[in-house]
Amino acid sequence: MRYLSTRGQAPILEFEDVLLAGLAGDGGLYMPEVWPHFTKPEIRAMRGSDYNEVAFRIMAPYVDGAIDEAAFRAMIADAYQGFGHPATAPLVQLDNSLWLTELFHGPTLAFKDYPLQLVGRLFDHVLGARRKKVTIIGATSGDTGSAAIEACQGRDAIQMFIFHPEGRVSEVQRRQMTTVMSANVHNIALKGTFDDCQDMVKALFADKVLAQRHNFSAVNSINWARIMAQIVYYFWAALAIGAPDRRIAFAVPTGNFGNVFAAYAAKRMGLPIERLIIGSNANDILTRYFESGQMTMQNVVPTLSPSMDIQVSSNFERLLFEYYHRDGAAVAKVLERFRRTGKANFGKGRWRAMGNLFEGHRIGDNTTKAVIGDIYKSTGQLLDPHSAIGVEAARRSHLPAGTAIIAMATAHPAKFPAAAEESTGIRPKLPPQLADLFERPERFETLPNNIERVSAYLDQQLAAGEDA
Ligand SMILES: *Cc1c(COP(=O)(O)O)cnc(C)c1O
Repeated sequence: MRYLSTRGQAPILEFEDVLLAGLAGDGGLYMPEVWPHFTKPEIRAMRGSDYNEVAFRIMAPYVDGAIDEAAFRAMIADAYQGFGHPATAPLVQLDNSLWLTELFHGPTLAFKDYPLQLVGRLFDHVLGARRKKVTIIGATSGDTGSAAIEACQGRDAIQMFIFHPEGRVSEVQRRQMTTVMSANVHNIALKGTFDDCQDMVKALFADKVLAQRHNFSAVNSINWARIMAQIVYYFWAALAIGAPDRRIAFAVPTGNFGNVFAAYAAKRMGLPIERLIIGSNANDILTRYFESGQMTMQNVVPTLSPSMDIQVSSNFERLLFEYYHRDGAAVAKVLERFRRTGKANFGKGRWRAMGNLFEGHRIGDNTTKAVIGDIYKSTGQLLDPHSAIGVEAARRSHLPAGTAIIAMATAHPAKFPAAAEESTGIRPKLPPQLADLFERPERFETLPNNIERVSAYLDQQLAAGEDA
């Protein structure tokens, strides 16, 4: 399989290079040259398989022989063996036509474990074969950092520096990062906001001398391999309730548009999906676009669902690439204008075409809390605020009778315990493997928002690592 950049200027690459590159050289995102396709009989034949088997079949055409079959199967098995439920991603029925896929049984209790546990192993494998090392640099508002650290800790070929805004992530989120003691993990509490952390990461990448000296790389959701690993659970969930012989829609709480783009990819691969329902919090740029045909930037406001407090949904660029018939030059042009003016409409025809598949719903904090209370009362299921937004978006959708909706539960309620407690009176408990999280020692470095100080810290830590 070959991969193209959504902006049409970067070199065409094979799987392993796309994995290591993350972002394309022209600022675009990598996309497969063609969508692999499964017929209905081929999809039916996957029914009854376990999660790892479905994962192998769905991802094999993307890896396309770059990693041999036995090694790839072993990596999948290893990635998911520590998950806290034998079904890996179990389904729960909420009412006559609404299901939930629990994507929070990984080590850090958010769906990002599903792609990152595999991506960490893919990095290790490819780097080992090439005898290369990378330094992964990332900014986090909470969930990405812990999932990436958990996936890469102790891996010889990877050093990792994760920036979080000092005092602005929840205590559970901070401790999930700072209690990991592996020598290759470096947590930095930056004196600033999440935006300052992101700007710091961009500034470090822009320092070509530093970036080359340490071979910088990224594992945020612009990395194609993460999207690829997320396609799996859409097939998995649909198969569990009777696909491809049943009308199915998905509801997905959305920030960067990565998770719901994986659902779109599943549809392109032949999974019959009637509709993709997006749940937004008050940061509703996508919902406003699907409602009005206008995309306009606004300031980020903090909500109960912090992992969706995002202004620009970077993976939407992948959808644009499809709706612009893969014309990279046209995508580059509209995005450049959007960045300059803060406004875009992408044309009425495209907006209508997207509206045939996508719809968006905005769910504020008060409604989110009410939904958590209501679902708990009617089913006994405790939802975290992100998952509640997906469930409420599903309930607001008007679909033909007989369509089953599967909402994606993206975090464990214990990751955001205050919301559940306020809505239900019950404080969700951390699962056994994290029960002692608050007693574990922490290790992190607090640094000023100053590029010289941060670069010096990186140089010093990486030099120390080489001596050891
Ligand atoms: C990251 C995250 C999201 C948003 O996912 P995107 O792929 O960015 O749309 C939703 N819920 C939780 C719990 C997350 O951690």
